[in-house]
Amino acid sequence: MFKDLAYCRPTTVAEAIEALKRPGSRALAGGTDLVVRLREGREGVTMVVDLSGIRALGRIGVQGEEIFLGSMVTLRQIMDSALLRHEAPLLARAAAAVGSPRIRNRGTIGGNIMNASPAGDTLPALLALEASVILSGPGGERRLPLAELLAGPYRTRALPGEFLTEIRFPRLPAGHGSSFLKLGRRNALAVARINVAAVLQVTDKRIRVARLAAGAVTPVPRRFPEAEALLLGAAPGEEAFHAAAREVAAGMVREAGQRHPLADKIPVVEALVLRALREAGDGHIKPGSY
Ligand SMILES: Cc1cc2nc3c(=O)[nH]c(=O)nc-3n(C[C@H](O)[C@H](O)[C@H](O)COP(=O)(O)OP(=O)(O)OC[C@H]3O[C@@H](n4cnc5c(N)ncnc54)[C@H](O)[C@@H]3O)c2cc1C
Repeated sequence: MFKDLAYCRPTTVAEAIEALKRPGSRALAGGTDLVVRLREGREGVTMVVDLSGIRALGRIGVQGEEIFLGSMVTLRQIMDSALLRHEAPLLARAAAAVGSPRIRNRGTIGGNIMNASPAGDTLPALLALEASVILSGPGGERRLPLAELLAGPYRTRALPGEFLTEIRFPRLPAGHGSSFLKLGRRNALAVARINVAAVLQVTDKRIRVARLAAGAVTPVPRRFPEAEALLLGAAPGEEAFHAAAREVAAGMVREAGQRHPLADKIPVVEALVLRALREAGDGHIKPGSY
């Protein structure tokens, strides 16, 4: 099936850059997305560059006030990492929400990001964590906010030959609470897949930090600054949470249009955002809840 496809497995970032310079080459991480597409013959790929030989891409750690993880860290490793479960429980829960155990064992954070699916589960969590990505390519290394990388459904702003090496995000503020929730596709109910991530920090009974991101409700997963503005300075509770949830749904409709099929999902979006805010307002995601 793949008899005309060349394959290489570099062991350093520099070797991968050389290989990815060649026209028709494509990065291969866990292959859970790419192999399906190659089988369908849709990609015009002539060589796959398997990144699994580059050990540096598998690290998870802390540097100063930042958490970093290599692009080849698997979703399973994220779920199992004591550091990430403690520092970024919403990301651990998002990783746990992806596909099946087999997909999570092979699928990587880098693949989930670079696939740039509107419904990619780690994306809202990473946006709420204010994550940045490190890209390496023929022009050197550059860092950009994740929100800037995402150009549209299944499209990124990576330049030709560039690949994702690392993801970094600042530690969450002291006393924060967070949440990630996903509504899976259930054909009988015809409910679109929606995922929501929230981070709240409350001091002196006021919300001081509010970050809300959602996926699958807009062409690109994104933060909802108008909803966040309604939360900032407000007392944490039902009134503020309902107002913010309504604003996320309104933002979705503004972007997608009232006649878009998603407009029917307004109550579902509101309910999921509300639940996420309640959980984040309550403090940490409870251990064992993913
Ligand atoms: C049955 C099934 C269920 C799924 N369920 C979910 C789900 O519930 N939620 C969800 O979010 N996703 C889901 N997925 C999609 C997929 O499994 C995830 O997106 C996964 O994280 C992809 O990672 P990967 O390592 O397998 O990527 P790959 O398949 O190896 O690559 C995906 C794309 O990203 C590019 N890429 C990978 N790594 C890099 C890199 N470091 N730099 C540059 N480009 C790179 C590849 O070239 C390719 O275009 C599902 C897939 C299947 C087949």
